[in-house]
Amino acid sequence: MTINKEDIILWLKNCAKVITEQRDYLVELDAAIGDADHGVNMERGFNAVLLKLPELVEQDIGSILKTVGMTLVATVGGASGPLYGTFFLQAGAKLTGKVELNLADWVSALEAAVQGVMMRGKAQAGDKTMLDTFIPALQALQEAQTENLRLSEALQKATAAAEKGMQSTIPLQARKGRASYLGERSIGHQDPGATSAYLILKAASDTWSAIA
Ligand code: ADP
Ligand code: MG
Repeated sequence: MTINKEDIILWLKNCAKVITEQRDYLVELDAAIGDADHGVNMERGFNAVLLKLPELVEQDIGSILKTVGMTLVATVGGASGPLYGTFFLQAGAKLTGKVELNLADWVSALEAAVQGVMMRGKAQAGDKTMLDTFIPALQALQEAQTENLRLSEALQKATAAAEKGMQSTIPLQARKGRASYLGERSIGHQDPGATSAYLILKAASDTWSAIA
């Protein structure tokens, strides 16, 4: 079974919904090790995406995701805006012309997206960023693809890995972004960007769980 354009649009709507629902939580996490704006930044970005969606329904998945990326770059701000922008732009570039996706397409889009975030932010696994969610989720998807798992099962595994990755940021000392200014005082707090990354991946799994 495949993820079609309507599924992608539904996922983006659900991202906006869950980010709005979790705005205060993301703000709270960012208040502990940053400047308390991550939830507000992300909500502003995904609300702008919501407004763009009606004009995107006729486009292919690659174009939809590229527009999402440009919209996030233009509206989210902070460190995370260009990084989430890159994530969606790179995924979109991989999916140019596609109107439906199988697991292999989704894996290759996420590979490009994660690679893009790593290059743009010059961060690695263990730096206490969104990558600590994205990297294990991608690895779980790659493994699921090798094992020929069904799409829904692969997405569930990716979400579980993303959740563990998000939680793994708690004992880490931040080496990138604003939280790194705190040095050892960043230890003991969950990273806000790792948390929003988990919400976005979980929304994909929740939205597409009925596909196959
Ligand atoms: P700012 O830190 O500018 O206020 P946000 O609060 O919106 O921006 O986003 C902070 C999040 O951005 C962090 O929790 C972290 O996950 C992510 N982040 C910051 N710098 C990097 C980086 N170089 N690479 C990957 N993610 C990063
Ligand atoms: Mg912030």
